[in-house]
Amino acid sequence: MGSPKLPVLLLPHPLILLPTARLTLPISRSLADAIISHLDDSDAVLAALPLPAPDSPSEVTYGTAARVVRLVRPRNLTQQYLLSLHGVARVRLPSPIQIDQLECLPIHNVVYPSSEGTPSRDTVESFKDAALILLDRLAKDSLQQQRKDDWLRVAAIVEDISEQRAAWMADVLVAAVSPQYPDKLAFLAAADVEDRLRRATELFVKQSSIQEVSKKIASAVDESLSRQQKEYFLRQQLAAIQRELHSLHSSPATAGPGFGTGGAISELDDDDQADADDLADLRRKIEALDVGSEERKVGVREWRRLKRIPQGSVENGVIRSYLEWLTSVPWPSNTTTTPLDVFKDHSFLTRARAQLDADHYGLDQIKRRLMEYLAVVRLRAIADAAQTQGNNPATDASPVAVSTPPTKNKGVKGPILLFVGPPGTGKTSLGQSIAKALRRPFQRISLGGVRDEAEIRGHRRTYVASGPGSIVQALRKAGRNDPVILLDEVDKVGHSNFHGDPAAALLEVLDPEQNHSFNDHYINVPIDLSQVLFICTSNTLDTISAPLLDRCEVVELSGYTYDEKMHIAKRFLLPKQIRANGLSDSQLTLTDDALLHVATMYTREAGVRSLERAIGAVVRFKAVEWAEWLDAGSGSAAGGEGNAKQIGDVDENEKGDRNNNNNENEKEWRATVEPHELEKILGIPRWDTEERDREEKRGVVYGLVVTGMGEGGILPVESTAVPGVGRLKLTGSLGDVIKESGEIALSWVKTHAFELGITAGRGVDPLKVPDVIDVHLHLPAGAQKKDGPSAGIAMICAFVSLLSGACVPKDIAMTGEITLRGRVTPVGGIRMKVLGAHRAQIRKVILPWANRKDVEHDVALEVRREMQFFFVRTIDEALEAAFGRGALGWRRESTVLLESRL
Ligand code: ADP
Repeated sequence: MGSPKLPVLLLPHPLILLPTARLTLPISRSLADAIISHLDDSDAVLAALPLPAPDSPSEVTYGTAARVVRLVRPRNLTQQYLLSLHGVARVRLPSPIQIDQLECLPIHNVVYPSSEGTPSRDTVESFKDAALILLDRLAKDSLQQQRKDDWLRVAAIVEDISEQRAAWMADVLVAAVSPQYPDKLAFLAAADVEDRLRRATELFVKQSSIQEVSKKIASAVDESLSRQQKEYFLRQQLAAIQRELHSLHSSPATAGPGFGTGGAISELDDDDQADADDLADLRRKIEALDVGSEERKVGVREWRRLKRIPQGSVENGVIRSYLEWLTSVPWPSNTTTTPLDVFKDHSFLTRARAQLDADHYGLDQIKRRLMEYLAVVRLRAIADAAQTQGNNPATDASPVAVSTPPTKNKGVKGPILLFVGPPGTGKTSLGQSIAKALRRPFQRISLGGVRDEAEIRGHRRTYVASGPGSIVQALRKAGRNDPVILLDEVDKVGHSNFHGDPAAALLEVLDPEQNHSFNDHYINVPIDLSQVLFICTSNTLDTISAPLLDRCEVVELSGYTYDEKMHIAKRFLLPKQIRANGLSDSQLTLTDDALLHVATMYTREAGVRSLERAIGAVVRFKAVEWAEWLDAGSGSAAGGEGNAKQIGDVDENEKGDRNNNNNENEKEWRATVEPHELEKILGIPRWDTEERDREEKRGVVYGLVVTGMGEGGILPVESTAVPGVGRLKLTGSLGDVIKESGEIALSWVKTHAFELGITAGRGVDPLKVPDVIDVHLHLPAGAQKKDGPSAGIAMICAFVSLLSGACVPKDIAMTGEITLRGRVTPVGGIRMKVLGAHRAQIRKVILPWANRKDVEHDVALEVRREMQFFFVRTIDEALEAAFGRGALGWRRESTVLLESRL
């Protein structure tokens, strides 16, 4: 058979058509015409030969016999025709052809290389393996599910393909995975089946690794780019929005009156300028820090970082706010300390005393202690200054000695004051007075409920939204390195937990050995706190950790008597409230009786906080009345200016005028508040029924307690007998110690039942004879936890009363710990308990003998005068004091005998 002839179509570089593949390409009109004329007189097959790259001189020999599938005529003649071909089989030209015959369709002899023969099994297997790996990777990398499925379907076909069809499959796959041009060209030239499969295998392996590597690179690049791109896009959007807003506001047609139209530039608009100013300010502050100091080094380092980081980024903001904090801490370079003149002034102590007296009534002992404290502060400050000058004479000699190294300031290392007492007893305001006397700024840090160490020490900067702790914040607010800082409620600070140990952080702050280099986690540069004067306050000493207590000097404020409260109310609280509510002293007075009524019936606290609140309520009530009185025209009768100004300006004469004008006015202005009016203003008195409710009853006595807030008061101890088996039952949220006290009390009473006249014979259990009973002892206010041994004698008295039938008078209260041998041992909180009893109108108290000195030292004279104290050494004495001489049927001799036998 002679070699067949086919029209030859040269495919422009880099197009190539493989057998089994399809290709669509644009062609010129002349070529399209040639193809059409060829189609007319033969079947639609032509030889598509790839044209080599222009710079490579290789000849064109191999191609693909292709069927013309479609030829699309363009709508517009200036456009090109589109020719679609389908590769059928490889062809080879016996001799190379001239490349310039691109635009026509020359007819040439072609040879169809033989593609018969079966490839070896190994070649087919390795072909299949490579193809499957590639298909698997392609499926994995496909983003569309459809595509994925397609690749997997092809993989399934490849797995099952026979050896005869393997070469065909190679053609299909190579065309589909679109390798590079030279690879395709070489593959086209591989007429031999074995050779073709081997080339396809190589090609697939290469393609797989390319696919893998490019995937890796793509994802790595993607990761690194996506954040930057996101930020970039967001910034662009932000800028665009700002531009739009700006144009909106600056266009006169749309701008509202609030946006400062007409060229008026608001300082809010010029962001860039303000920003630059802030930065310049920050820079100045860093430059002002001491050369060579740690804070300056850190400041400079952070400033450099700030400059490197693009403005407006999150990191930039973080560094800026850090620098702002860093520079606002009062470092030695940017702060002023109290001038020494304050201390050198000879009238310092007199002035300090005057200040304390001006701010507080009474508290004599405490004021005396504070004066001692202030004297020590003063002496130390003077001594330190003298030492500094001695060490550093150059300072005096030459005022320009800038390079003199700063001398380490020792600071005030006196004890730290700890004010302990119930709320409203003036702890905070004493701290303020000390600050005023020392002419230092005052800051208060509330530690109540602080569980997290970071609240004191700050969060590390790695923490999101980190910031400095309360100490640094207080220093910044004070603006000086020697403020008076009041650490409020140190008893309520949390102990070690998973948020760290706030109590330990507090210790570091307070410890004079450590606090010259306090480390706030956020600032992370040691801060010298040795100049700061710390004062702590707490309600009780029970919950303060021992090491903290060890560093403090306790000053107890136990509470005020009614007499003291009257004075405080008249001199401080009432004038303060009158001023705060826009009235003047002449417009309102509370009679002494009214004040006492408020103090006794409406507030029964140790301090004066509720009293102040109640007085405030009365003053506000009267302020409304006054305003209404003015509005009703009564005010205009006195001068015709019924307005707020007048309210503050009324004087005695004017008031007199008004009273004279009574005939015209319906109602006269009543400036005085009497006790009977209080119910209308404050409502029903809270403590009114307290005394009346108290009863003298078998089995009930009154004990003395101190609450968790440090407030003293009385507490009924109730006991009753119920049918039972001779046991003791205790209720009222009692702790272990108080329960044991109950057991001891009952045991003592059982042992001494005969001597007390409760039982008829020695050794008889009063709980079993005549009736078998249980004794139930209850301490009311059942929701409050109670513990401690001090209710011992109250319990004994309750049991004795219950079993003997004698009653303890209701105006007697008692406290004292007992022992099994019948001794009464001392207890704490005597001052608060006595004051609490006094407030509760109790006039007789039974106390342990050993607490005698506490009463003498700590309890105010006027309270002592109004009360009767029984100091007892033994339970016998306590019973006698409680029930009265001869009230119990004592069989005394036997008691004495028993004692002597012991
Ligand atoms: P604390 O800190 O003990 O809870 P504060 O210091 O806040 O109590 O006192 C509450 C109010 O009572 C303040 O207005 C204070 O001025 C006033 N106060 C307390 N004690 C006295 C006093 N002895 N003389 C005058 N005012 C007092």
